[in-house]
Amino acid sequence: MDVTNRYITIKAHIYGAPKESDFELKDAALPLRVDPDTNVVIVKNLYVSIDPYQLNRMKSFSSSQSAINFAAGVTPGEGIDAYGVGKVVVSGNPEFEKDDLVVGLICWGDYTVVKPGVLLRKFDPLGLPVSYQVGILGFSGLTAYAGLFDICKPKKGEKVFVSAASGSVGNLVGQYAKLFGCYVVGSAGSKEKVALLKEKLGFDDAFDYKEETDLKATLKKYFPDGIDIYFDNVGAEMQEAAVANMKAFGRVAVCGVISEYTEAGKRAAPDMLDVVYKRIKIQGFLAADHMNLYQDFLNKTCDQLRTGEIQALEDISDGVESIPSAFVGLFRGDNIGKKIVRIAQE
Ligand code: NAP
Repeated sequence: MDVTNRYITIKAHIYGAPKESDFELKDAALPLRVDPDTNVVIVKNLYVSIDPYQLNRMKSFSSSQSAINFAAGVTPGEGIDAYGVGKVVVSGNPEFEKDDLVVGLICWGDYTVVKPGVLLRKFDPLGLPVSYQVGILGFSGLTAYAGLFDICKPKKGEKVFVSAASGSVGNLVGQYAKLFGCYVVGSAGSKEKVALLKEKLGFDDAFDYKEETDLKATLKKYFPDGIDIYFDNVGAEMQEAAVANMKAFGRVAVCGVISEYTEAGKRAAPDMLDVVYKRIKIQGFLAADHMNLYQDFLNKTCDQLRTGEIQALEDISDGVESIPSAFVGLFRGDNIGKKIVRIAQE
């Protein structure tokens, strides 16, 4: 049987903030057949992850593209792979059977032809929503967990600041840090997001960075005695302001620098004398290097979800055609929590 596979492409490389018109919905006939012993699997996509790092793949050049396989450049006109969840429809691989639920690198489209060697594994939803595999129990969750516990090594009572705090990674960093016994302040881009952090997610405090004109002074107000840990999701001025407010022996986990993805030439320039004399550790990291923590992270997070200690914040849109607006929205701050597109009903 042939199906029509709709998928999203970029028309040309993207510079600056992405626009919906940079994308195109294409379709092609896809025979739902695989030759036996090819190890190829055809997956019907259910949920796909919408992530800021994809923008750096859509540029003609970004230093991230050569750093790790999954960040390789996207070719205009071709399909775009992304983390997500699907169901096997046809399998030429003895490890997978029809109807297996799988998570891994699928694509921004209705179906994915998964070749051997591409990240794909079966999973058990463990009684939790299948979409959780894309965010809180997927790379967003692991990023928050590894970045906070492995990179920043918090101690109870320490003061933690997290930017893009209502986003997929940021909201979990704050929730984990609170549960661990830290004092947590988050920054986010609207009053609604600030209220959510304080009233629903238990942050000690939060502020709307778009309302502030002097970020150094703002952070001084929220952390009069200084910051022990800064979990950086945004880079640029916020990173500079956080470094200026760090305590001696503070740690900065550089998870991502989203404000720099859309503006070529915008770079954080923290005061390096502060870094030296306050003995601040600034460390970039990639969640993919912390797979050794995955089982521990999964067990603890599932328990905390079941007891209600942690809340899953998801922002789900429907249909392949909504992928461009979902993606563009990340850079406008439209999303609250993990941005996911549901491609098909389970
Ligand atoms: P997200 O926070 O759910 O979504 C992006 C959010 O960033 C938006 O909602 C917006 O919220 C904020 N934002 C957008 N443009 C901004 C700007 N110019 N300045 C300040 N804030 C801006 O995305 P995510 O998936 O959790 O990713 C967060 C960061 O972590 C990104 O930098 C991403 O690249 C990085 N990341 C790294 C790893 C890793 O392994 N190191 C893994 C996953 C993600 P506001 O309303 O608050 O502006």
